[in-house]
Amino acid sequence: MTRHFILLVLAVCSTADSWAQEAQETPTFDRSVKIAENFEAVIQRTEQDRAVAEKLASLQRKTGRRPNILWLVVDDMGYGDPGCYGGGTLVGAATPNIDKLAAEGLKLTSCYSQQTCTPTRSAILTGRLPVRTGLIRPILAGDQITANPWADEVSLPKLLSDAGYFTLLTGKWHVGESKGMRPHDIGFDEYYGYYPAQKEISQRVDVRRFPGLVLNPERLAAFEAVGPAAHLAHGFKGGETNELQQIKSTDDMGKADEVLADFTIKRIKELADGELPFFIEHCFMKVHCDNFAHPDHAGKSEAKYPYKDGIHEVDAHVGAILKALDEAGVLENTLVFLTSDNGPQMDGWPDAGYTPFRGAKGTTWEGGVRVPGIAYWKGMIAPGRTNDGLFDLLDLFGVGLNLAGVSNDKLPANKYYDFIDQTSFLLADDGQSKREAVYFWWGKELMACRMREYKVHLKVILAEAPHMHIDLATVRDVGLAPWFFNLYLDPKEEMTVGHRLDPWMATVTGKLKAHGATFRKYPPKNIGL
Ligand code: CA
Repeated sequence: MTRHFILLVLAVCSTADSWAQEAQETPTFDRSVKIAENFEAVIQRTEQDRAVAEKLASLQRKTGRRPNILWLVVDDMGYGDPGCYGGGTLVGAATPNIDKLAAEGLKLTSCYSQQTCTPTRSAILTGRLPVRTGLIRPILAGDQITANPWADEVSLPKLLSDAGYFTLLTGKWHVGESKGMRPHDIGFDEYYGYYPAQKEISQRVDVRRFPGLVLNPERLAAFEAVGPAAHLAHGFKGGETNELQQIKSTDDMGKADEVLADFTIKRIKELADGELPFFIEHCFMKVHCDNFAHPDHAGKSEAKYPYKDGIHEVDAHVGAILKALDEAGVLENTLVFLTSDNGPQMDGWPDAGYTPFRGAKGTTWEGGVRVPGIAYWKGMIAPGRTNDGLFDLLDLFGVGLNLAGVSNDKLPANKYYDFIDQTSFLLADDGQSKREAVYFWWGKELMACRMREYKVHLKVILAEAPHMHIDLATVRDVGLAPWFFNLYLDPKEEMTVGHRLDPWMATVTGKLKAHGATFRKYPPKNIGL
């Protein structure tokens, strides 16, 4: 602001109040405002919110009920895997059904997950960053959790169930399998799936990859004593849990996603005939390593590798699930959101996905956290939209609350909430994001922040060998200046624009520090991970 302008403003504004108002209207890089102390600041889009509220009310008058919500969460799929994100046939596995979803809906190009499974899966159900809930990394064989992180969290399925929804999680859970931590303990009315990731199950039966375990009965017994469950579980709110078939071979593992997709399709048909709107989170086992091709899909991808055949299969299930919605007559009353829970796990290469970005799963580089995000809703989302506005997957929590008509006062005031209600971003014809910043954590370390096209890193994860972003990586503090990238000029985060070349670095760094300061009043939980 020039001195001349300041004097002019002072002359016009006679009171402190009007000065404050004038100052607020001065354009700044940070457009967001705080609506409550314990909620993330939002870019206010009043007109967009109003138009979408009207659109939703109009639909509800027509259908007589709240809309259904269906999330499709693929495990470890890379940003560059679906054809609509530049992959598909280019990387040896066409994805016609996912591409169709994007073409007829909204494709987000700046959609962010956490950098591994458990953190993302818990964040989208709590609306809170993993560092706040304590679920900061995957729970693995032998881990001793010191406190149930869910005990004082108010989950999305619980809120939706209380609001009259039927809530179901099908597939991979990976957020705790002891009593009190299972999907049907934390709010879901029904659970049908496997608790851990594919490899945690298949390593007991995969003699080619794990002979030291599979061919050694003593070690196998020791592993079984601490290892995660290998059976399909069918659980119901209240605690009843039935153990269904065990995965006894890599062939069984290869068929797991078919079993899950068949179940979701069956339940969509039943629930569509019922009285209640539904919330279904369908979590694929694929394409987390190790992938074993289903016989119907083996060799069907152009690349013919198990990972690529896995993408082929996931894409086919996406098509079948969408067809089931259509046949059940609920396509026009269901928000569908497809995503991946983190970037590709390059440590498992070639049983791994593709990202055009630097880094991969386990890092806070774009390759670890920038994921496909497609919102589809026939008649409610204009076809063919693409938007680069920021979307954090934990914003799905806010969208869920909005669609179910659950207000924020149902959330405890003593907890900090990181989600933003992005319903109007997804549903307005030219909807714009209400999120100004995405924060990147790695365990208990605050690593980086993105605002608009800028990203600043205070700490970085460096792979010490090609593709080894988890198994041979280090976390390092940056030197004198934060590492500062313009993602429009340099999406691979290779060329820092540095502290001399860009006036916005201090703003982004300041935003990141202000975020860190929220933990003083709202301290993080420690659950022993
Ligand atoms: Ca994952």
